[in-house]
Amino acid sequence: MSIIKLLPENVANQIAAGEVVQRPSSVVKELLENSIDSGAQTIKLYIKDAGKTLIQVIDNGSGIDKDDLKLCCLRHATSKITNSKDLFNLKTMGFRGEALSSIASVSQITITSNCLEDSNLGNQIKIEGGKQTAFNEVVAIKGTSISVKNLFYNIPARRNFLKSDNVELKHIIDEFHRIALSNHKINFVFTNNDNELFNLNKSIFKERIIRVFGRSSEQKLIPVEENTEIAKIKGFVFKPEYSRKTRSSQFFFINGRFIKNNHLHHAIKTAYKGLILDDYHPSYFIKIDVPLETIDVNIHPNKTEIKFDNDQSIYAILISSVKHSLGQFNISPTIDFNSNVNLNTPYSFKDKSANIPRVEYDQAFNPFNNLKNPVDVKSKDFVFESYESDDKLNVVDEMNLGLSDSLPAFQLDSRYVITKNRAGLVIINQKRAQQRIMYEVFLKELSNKKNPSQTLLFPLKLEFDNSEIEYLKSIKSSLIHLGFKFTVFDDNLIEISAVHPFLNHELINNLFQDFIEYGDISENKLSHTLNDLVAKVLSKHSSYNTNVKTNQKAIEMMVNNLFACKDSRISPFGKLIHKSISLSEISNFFK
Ligand code: ADP
Ligand code: MG
Repeated sequence: MSIIKLLPENVANQIAAGEVVQRPSSVVKELLENSIDSGAQTIKLYIKDAGKTLIQVIDNGSGIDKDDLKLCCLRHATSKITNSKDLFNLKTMGFRGEALSSIASVSQITITSNCLEDSNLGNQIKIEGGKQTAFNEVVAIKGTSISVKNLFYNIPARRNFLKSDNVELKHIIDEFHRIALSNHKINFVFTNNDNELFNLNKSIFKERIIRVFGRSSEQKLIPVEENTEIAKIKGFVFKPEYSRKTRSSQFFFINGRFIKNNHLHHAIKTAYKGLILDDYHPSYFIKIDVPLETIDVNIHPNKTEIKFDNDQSIYAILISSVKHSLGQFNISPTIDFNSNVNLNTPYSFKDKSANIPRVEYDQAFNPFNNLKNPVDVKSKDFVFESYESDDKLNVVDEMNLGLSDSLPAFQLDSRYVITKNRAGLVIINQKRAQQRIMYEVFLKELSNKKNPSQTLLFPLKLEFDNSEIEYLKSIKSSLIHLGFKFTVFDDNLIEISAVHPFLNHELINNLFQDFIEYGDISENKLSHTLNDLVAKVLSKHSSYNTNVKTNQKAIEMMVNNLFACKDSRISPFGKLIHKSISLSEISNFFK
């Protein structure tokens, strides 16, 4: 008896949807690409609840006629290719005819379209879970509007798998960045829950980058350009001093399509060698145009990976052109003939250079000394406020783990503390101990009602991109609770006016970078709750100046505080804090 069956169309579509539609941002990508392929000049994206409730894209492109509207949600229905030869001459973003059928099989979709300039009548099709539920003539202007409601409503397992709104919104913003950058000649509007996140007029590439990443990115850009027969390279890299610990703002566009490619990324990193620290990453916006027949886009359902015929040559060309630009920039200010970007800078600011933020801090500040006593900030550069000296900083308690009262302890190499317990000798990694102590302090403080806060006399301005700002907003309340004060301004700036007094103020910038690097907790291996993540990152930063020669009293207090911790063995980052050498091991040394 035959046991092989052909799957029903809607089941096949749901399986295909698993590849094409992973999350709301995949829908956003596919719908925006369809609008671009339709020749639209203006594309508007509206989402609700990070796309979980609604994703709507409205364009003024070619529109879809009545007959095609009935077909466009069928699998492999495409107007973009007709035979396999076309696969190697692709000028459109889509071609597989899978997106609408996949999306329609896992959501409630309504497509309204009119393909005629001089008519205000169009058609509307509604499909739920892959089944057509309505088809009507409706009033519509030329173009297409597609709304996708309740993604994965019919696959609860997938819907439950979606991350928090913040995470999903970040994915959507990332996708939007890619599409808005590579299609700078198109107007885009992007609104989330009635909050307009982007309103971008068509412009040259450079202006689009500045519009997307904030006005101050203009001064960071160095142009890169190279024309060869195998590839035309055009774009920008960030000056080395603006490299960051996070791998953000890295874009390759091959023939207008955003792609991920480690090989090309490696080429850029190589060009920066010696100019940036190893764990820092350059930002770049590189468009590479190659002859259509030399690439294969059809190797990945999302088309974000591409095979090149000439990847070795392109690798070499990329290194040399980026190196050349970086070199030019080091010798003389780059002359950029596209610099007449009109960003409506008020005249009086135009010729002024940006003020470099300066933070004054108390050099003598040592978190060891402050553990037991209420924080006493002597530096005149800080205005101290709202500190309540209840028991919250008193992490020393009666638990003593057999350490003797007088605690003989001394420092070795400014990095280790040696002490003893009943069993023998204990070697403590000073930095990790400090992280553990501070981690537990911060965790405890997060459950306090009110925390100490130090107002900076000179507020610090830091810049982030939109998705990073959205993320920082999401952790803002925890940070405020811990004594931070910051305001989010337009233009991707945040202004920090107060911090927790235990922090090394010199490193606040790095601290915020780390919040972003460790990122959203729902995708985070380090922590499962926001409070925990915040406490971990803060503990890391409060331990920076730990490896210094410290006075005896502070050493002893550190040892006490460490062994009063809930877990004194493992640092918040999973590393061993101390190791013992037992008396019997010691006696073995002398056998
Ligand atoms: P593909 O883009 O790979 O062709 P899709 O499933 O994304 O496949 O879309 C199917 C077809 O529907 C497209 O080939 C196109 O003809 C039509 N279509 C989809 N979106 C639009 C749009 N916004 N404007 C005009 N036509 C569209
Ligand atoms: Mg498509």
